[in-house]
Amino acid sequence: MTKPAYQRVLLKLSGEALMGDDPFGINRATIERMVADVAEVSKLGVELAVVIGGGNIFRGVAPGAQGMDRATADYMGMLATVMNALALADAMRQQGITARVMSAIGIEQVVEPYVRPKALQYLEEGKVVVFAAGTGNPFFTTDTAAALRGSEISAEIVLKATKVDGVYTADPKKDPHATRYEQISFDEAIAKHLQVMDATAFALCRDQKLPIKVFSIVKPGALKRVIMGEDEGTLVHV
Ligand code: UDP
Repeated sequence: MTKPAYQRVLLKLSGEALMGDDPFGINRATIERMVADVAEVSKLGVELAVVIGGGNIFRGVAPGAQGMDRATADYMGMLATVMNALALADAMRQQGITARVMSAIGIEQVVEPYVRPKALQYLEEGKVVVFAAGTGNPFFTTDTAAALRGSEISAEIVLKATKVDGVYTADPKKDPHATRYEQISFDEAIAKHLQVMDATAFALCRDQKLPIKVFSIVKPGALKRVIMGEDEGTLVHV
């Protein structure tokens, strides 16, 4: 059997990915299917860390937060990611994966705090580490947390799971001639004004020479194909 293309990866799952077709919250069937994909790659021996978003529950910049103090709203957003992390880790437990949730903000009765050496130890032991509460700081996003934690754990790549199967020349929903980039450099993506991750996250990955793979989490088996190095999604490279 061919070997996986990566030994250690950072998977960024948006909160919205957990909603499925629901307007809000966590859709059971969706989270279970997603975790089945994660289980498949975890069983290949790939060390897997996950940064989970919170947009399915609360975003600091959401209409529901209008008029609120931004930092307070952002802390609410970070707490939303903790809820998602708990749901994700529990769904993993049900599918036989040992997961550990680590939070960037102190909430120790619920989940353990993020401690880098501990996270590295868990990964080496084959446990899936779920990073909750983003960077722990307001005014940031979980995309930036993915770039940060990915750099900290020396992941070989950040896998950005989206609803679209890569980066396109134009919006594929609006332009029937839009084509997917198989790969693109950071510089080219900037020159072409392609939105891959938010600017802070993108800059950090670029500085750290940490490649990003944008792929569809709704496409069955896509995560495994990405891990096996097959033509899936778009690779953003140095
Ligand atoms: N957030 C934050 N700092 C971080 C990460 C997240 O303040 O380091 C807050 C922010 O309000 C954000 C919310 O948490 O809107 C949810 O995160 P995000 O929007 O990145 O989730 P996703 O879009 O991936 O579901």
